[in-house]
Amino acid sequence: MIELIDSHIHLDDPRFDLDREELVKLAHISGVQRFVVPAVSRQRFAAVEQLANSHPAIVHTLGLHPYYIDQHSGADLEQLAAAIPVSQAVGIGECGLDHFLKNLDKKKQRLVFEAQVVLAKHFNLPLILHVRGAVAEVFDVLRQHDYFQAVMHSFNGSIEQAKQITDCGVLLGFGPAVCNPKASKLQALVRAVDPQHMLLETDAPDQPFYDRHGKRNLPIDLLRVNQDIAAIKDIDPMQLATQTSDNARRLFGL
Ligand SMILES: [Zn+2]
Repeated sequence: MIELIDSHIHLDDPRFDLDREELVKLAHISGVQRFVVPAVSRQRFAAVEQLANSHPAIVHTLGLHPYYIDQHSGADLEQLAAAIPVSQAVGIGECGLDHFLKNLDKKKQRLVFEAQVVLAKHFNLPLILHVRGAVAEVFDVLRQHDYFQAVMHSFNGSIEQAKQITDCGVLLGFGPAVCNPKASKLQALVRAVDPQHMLLETDAPDQPFYDRHGKRNLPIDLLRVNQDIAAIKDIDPMQLATQTSDNARRLFGL
């Protein structure tokens, strides 16, 4: 049977409140062995921890997402640092830089992100990185701290950047966006990246498939992500599943 690991799924999202258990069960029996659920703010720490305790297939990470930069405070960073050693968190994130949305304070983003890189290095935990319009900047921070245990989730940089980044050992996460036949640039990128540097993700409930606009993205959709990416790369889906699951296990110590 196929074995997959969803390296990025927001199972704590309220949009799953009515059917979370059933959806996890369905995906799990269909081959999704593990679900990595990143927190996005201090307010979500308890929720993702609780989820991880609720099902053996679910693990969580703790972090402060750049999208909510206005909310984050020094106290949140302190709480993150205090929570990590007593939590079963398998990583730090979702954190990073978002230069796509113009209303987010860049300077504060950088401070909060760097603090989390320092924490990850201190606790020797992998980073789940949100990178939008800021591939070079995020990679710069990793280089400055000489820390590369990380995945750039939903990666959308250039082939040259992908090569540079993966040469340092950073993994690249790919999800439903790749499945869009119109995403020819992203598909060319996915073709150029060796499966040994890849993780798969749904980013559910966000990032709906191109042919399912306005609908939630579901945990079971990881099977489609795997199928489609294997087809794009012209490789055996079983091989892609095995390799990316191995990568996820190694990165997160599962
Ligand atoms: Zn996310």
